[in-house]
This record gives sequence, C-alpha cells and structure tokens, in this order.
Amino acid sequence: RAKSEGRNTIRFFTADMDREFRRRRQTEDELRRDLGTDRFKVYYQPQFDLRTGSLTGYEALARWTSPALGPVSPEVFIPAAEACGLIAPLSEWILTKACRAATEWPEPVKLAVNLSAAQFRTGDVADMIERVLRWTTLPPDRLEIEITETALLRNTETARSALNRLRGIGVSIALDDFGTGYSSLSYLSRFPIDKIKIDRSFVQRLTADRNTSAIVQAIVGLGKALDLEIIAEGVETHDQVAQLRAIGCHRVQGYLFGRPRETVGFPIPEVVRRLQDLDRASA
Ligand code: C2E
Ligand code: MG
Ligand code: MG
Ligand code: MG
Repeated sequence: RAKSEGRNTIRFFTADMDREFRRRRQTEDELRRDLGTDRFKVYYQPQFDLRTGSLTGYEALARWTSPALGPVSPEVFIPAAEACGLIAPLSEWILTKACRAATEWPEPVKLAVNLSAAQFRTGDVADMIERVLRWTTLPPDRLEIEITETALLRNTETARSALNRLRGIGVSIALDDFGTGYSSLSYLSRFPIDKIKIDRSFVQRLTADRNTSAIVQAIVGLGKALDLEIIAEGVETHDQVAQLRAIGCHRVQGYLFGRPRETVGFPIPEVVRRLQDLDRASA
C-alpha cells in the first residue's frame, strides 16, 4: 500500500511538472510571437510629493494580453522573457515607448522604468539605455531606472559599472522593493543610489503593526542621513498616508493616488489637494 501511494505521489508530481513545463513553453512561444506588436502596452502610475502637492513622476509598467493566454502579469512574463532570451528586446521596446511618451510630459515630471536582474548579466545595458535616450531625445536627467537588490546581488561588478556610467550621464537610480532583500543596507554605500522605494509589504502593515512603523521610520531616517529620496509604494488608504506623513515620508505611489493607466493626465487628484488644504489649515 505504502508502495503504491509512493508511486502515485511521483506520478502526480511529474504530471504537475509536465503541466508547468508546458505552460512555460507556451508562454515563451506566445511572447516571441507578440513581441513588437500592440498586444504589449506600457501603463503609467503617478508618483506625488505631498509636501508640494506636485506630480513628480510616472513609473512605466509593462502589460501584455495574449490572444491565447489572456492578460499575463509582468511577474510571469518578465521572468519568462529572461528565461528564453527575450528580455533585451522586450526591455528596449518598453524603454523606447516610455521615453518617447515622456518627451511630451511637462518638466520636471520624471519617467521611472524597471530593469530586470538578467539585464545586468551582460555589460551592454548602459549602451542600450544611452542609445534609446539619444534616439527618443529624452534628456537623461528625466529618466530614473528602478532595480532590485537581487539584480545587484547576482551581478555585482557589471551592475556597478553600468550604474556608474548611467549616473555619469545624469540618469538617476532607484532601489525598488526596498527591505525585502538580503542586505539592503550595504548596497546603499556600494552602489550609486539616489532613491529608495519602500516595499508595499511594509506600507500594508504600517497601520496594524508597531514594529513595521519603527522600521519604516528607520528607513526614512537613513534616507535623510544619506541624502536619498524616499518613496512609499502601494499606498492604498488614508490611514497609511497619515502614518507616512507622521513618519516624514512625503513621496507616495499607490492605488489611492492613481492606478497604472495607458494614458497619463496632469491634473492633481482630489486626494492630494485635500492633503494640501489640511497642511495650509494647520500652518
Ligand atoms: P514593481 O516595480 O515593484 O511595481 C509595483 C507593482 O505594484 C506594480 O505591479 C503596480 O501595478 C502595483 N501597485 C501599484 N500600486 C499599488 C497598490 O496601491 N496596491 C497594490 N496591491 N499594488 C500596487 P505590476 O504592474 O503587476 O508589476 C509587478 C512587477 O513586475 C513590478 O514590480 C516589476 O518588478 C515588474 N515589472 C513591471 N513592468 C516591468 C518592466 O517593464 N520591466 C521589468 N523588468 N519589470 C517590470
Ligand atoms: Mg518598480
Ligand atoms: Mg516595487
Ligand atoms: Mg516588485
């Protein structure tokens, strides 16, 4: 009996793996087919500075709807593109489209674009970015790239030289999902970082958990001491905003202030204006 159960377990396990493998193969095939078509889109999510009430930038977020698979999350298709060697052309396409859009935005609204870890495996990511900036004529100081600690951990030397080069031409660098990796703090002194994005998981726990609020406060203090910009991501509620402001984190991004959308708008949302009124009343 035990023996037959064991055999069944193995059978189910391999059936699952087989299904998973086939799904991945299909994702990669569809990705290859749709690359460069309008089935890929770039959405933009706004970032605000609550002290000034101004829109400071938009983060570009890739979207893909495959005829065969339906909408696929970037958390799925970015790793798939990495695995099948399509991340370079896909990223260049996203960056080009976003930079071209950003040339129409009023100054000083910035464009933030995510780069994946795999792009630092080769040395030419800085070349690609410089090429796209020239081609689209977006001034380098209007571009910010977002990277995660994983990207730095896996490819330390190529990442450092690519980031230094980009920094040298005026591109700024944000550390994404801050606090979720292994050794966040050491990265701050070893890489040219301009900005920290406090991960959504901290923001979510902010109002329920005092330890989290202490951690966020420490990150904000660190940012001030090192002269880094700090932005909280995934802000969804007014309570989170109140806490963030009490802690001294004034830059925000999240559904409360605007979802990622295909088209950008420049009017300041009601929620930001209300906060400005509050500030004026208390001043
Ligand atoms: P990320 O860079 O940390 O982006 C933030 C994610 O949180 C986005 O998910 C965004 O839609 C979502 N988000 C924003 N505000 C809120 C909120 O208030 N609540 C909640 N629950 N979620 C919020 P998305 O667009 O699905 O992207 C997921 C991840 O995929 C990104 O995380 C990024 O790591 C990656 N990604 C997206 N687009 C690109 C791209 O063009 N290139 C690369 N390399 N990675 C990308
Ligand atoms: Mg990001
Ligand atoms: Mg993030
Ligand atoms: Mg993320």
